[in-house]
Amino acid sequence: MSDELPRPREWLAGARPYRTQSQAADVRLQSNEWAEPTALGRYLTAADLEATLLNRYPDIAAGRLRALLAAEWNVAPEQVIVGNGSNEVLLYTFLVFGGPDRTLLVFTPTYTMYARLGRTTGMRVHEERVGVPYSLAPATVRETIDRVRPDLICFSSPNNPTGDLIDHAVILSALQSRRTLVLVDEAYADFAGHTLLPLIASHPNLVVARTFSKARASAGLRLGALVADRRIAETYDAARLPYNVGALTQLVAERVATDTAGLAKRVACVTGERTRVFEALKTLPDIDVFPSRANFLLFRHRTVRAAAIHAALLGRGVLVRDVSSWTDAGEALRVTIGTPIENDRFLDALRATVEKR
Ligand code: PMP
Repeated sequence: MSDELPRPREWLAGARPYRTQSQAADVRLQSNEWAEPTALGRYLTAADLEATLLNRYPDIAAGRLRALLAAEWNVAPEQVIVGNGSNEVLLYTFLVFGGPDRTLLVFTPTYTMYARLGRTTGMRVHEERVGVPYSLAPATVRETIDRVRPDLICFSSPNNPTGDLIDHAVILSALQSRRTLVLVDEAYADFAGHTLLPLIASHPNLVVARTFSKARASAGLRLGALVADRRIAETYDAARLPYNVGALTQLVAERVATDTAGLAKRVACVTGERTRVFEALKTLPDIDVFPSRANFLLFRHRTVRAAAIHAALLGRGVLVRDVSSWTDAGEALRVTIGTPIENDRFLDALRATVEKR
C-alpha cells in the first residue's frame, strides 16, 4: 500500500486535536462547568418528548429560541445567531472574517481556541503578550492595533484563564478601528454581572458571544449564541450550516433560557464560593491567586511547577487545569468553583500538597 495521502492544508498537517485534561477524578474542577447534576428531565416532560418529531428537520431559523434570547438581551431576533456551543459561533466568525491574508490579534494568555481557529482558517495570528497578572491598558491596545493592523480581535471577558473582566475603555479603544471586527466572548459574563451587549447598537463592528455551558449549567446541551449588528448577522447566517441546532436542543434551550431563577441562584452561589476559595488560597504558603469575575480562579506556586501541582492534586482525587502550556500563562493552574464540598476537597488537597514541601 502506498503511504502517500492527500495533503491537508499546511497548518493542519501538524495540528493536534483540542483536548482538555480529562483524567478520572472524584472532584472534577477542570472545565468550568456547573458542578451540580442538571438532569434533562428537569426541563422536559414525557409530553414534550412525544411532541418533538425526529422525522422532520428542526426549525431552520430556531425562531422561538432566538426570540427568547433577543428579548433577554434587548436586541432584535435577527441579530442573534445560534450554534452548537459558542465554539460553533466562534468558528463562523473565522469563516466570515478570517482566512488567508488576514490577521488575528489576541492578548495572551487567553482562550486558546481563537488562535487555533485563526490558524485553521489560514490567518496570520498575532499573540500580544500580556502575561499574569493580566493587565491591559487602552493605550497598549491602541498601540498594538496600530502596529499589527488586525482584521479581527478576540477578547474573552471575563478572560479565560485569568478571570479578569476587560475594561470598557479597552474594548472602546479597540472598537475605534471601524474596519476591524472585535469579538468579545462573554462565556462567563453572567458570573460578572456585566455585558457589552448594549454597545452593539452604537458599534456595528462589535460582536458578542454567549454560551449555555457555564452559568446556565448546560454544557452537555451544546448551545451558544452570537449577537451582532443586523448586517453582520446576515453574513453570519449565510455562513451558518442549515439545521445546525437540532429540534431537541432548541426545545431544551428555550426552557433553559427562561429559567432565570435558576441562573440567579447559580450566580449568587459562585460569587460566594469564589470569595471563600480566593481568601483560603491567599493563606496558603507560596501560593499566588488572582482576583476573578468568572467561575474559576487562576493560581500558581512560586517555586513548584504547574505540572507537579497538578499531579499532586490528581493523586488526591482532584482534577484542575494545568494551563502552563497556554502562551504566556507561566506556571499557572486554573480551578473551577465547584460545590462547597468540592471546593473544600480542593483546598484540603492543595494545602496538603504545599505543606508537605
Ligand atoms: N469561550 C470561552 C472563553 C470558554 O472558556 C469556552 C469553554 N471552555 C468556550 C468559549 C466554549 O464553550 P461552549 O462551546 O461550550 O459554548
